[in-house]
This record gives sequence, C-alpha cells and structure tokens, in this order.
Amino acid sequence: MITGRCPICDRKFSGASLQELPQHPFCSEKCRLIDLGRWLGERYRMPADDAGAATVDELDGEPPFS
Ligand SMILES: [Zn+2]
Repeated sequence: MITGRCPICDRKFSGASLQELPQHPFCSEKCRLIDLGRWLGERYRMPADDAGAATVDELDGEPPFS
C-alpha cells in the first residue's frame, strides 16, 4: 500500500503499488503537468546573458547539465 499527498493540490491519494500510481508523487496527470510547467518556467527564467556572474548551481543547488 502506497499513500502520499500531492505537492500541487495537497490532495491525499493511495494505491496498492506504484504501478497503480503512474503519476506518483502527484494525484493526477494534470498536477504532474502543472509541476512540470513550473519547473520549466524556472529554467526559462534563468538569465542566459549573465552566465559569468552567478552560476546556476549557486542559484538553485542543482548541478549544471552540460
Ligand atoms: Zn494534485
């Protein structure tokens, strides 16, 4: 039994296994896409013409992709 709470809409969900929850850790495909959209929005807002000043890892703690 797997239970969780959607980080987008805060709704609780549960299922017998991860196979039953393809959208885990979200409650639905819709919330999964909302989260994806937010994540991409953060990426696109990164200043592309200012790479020398503050690095991406300093801003969000994630390693660079290249
Ligand atoms: Zn949700």
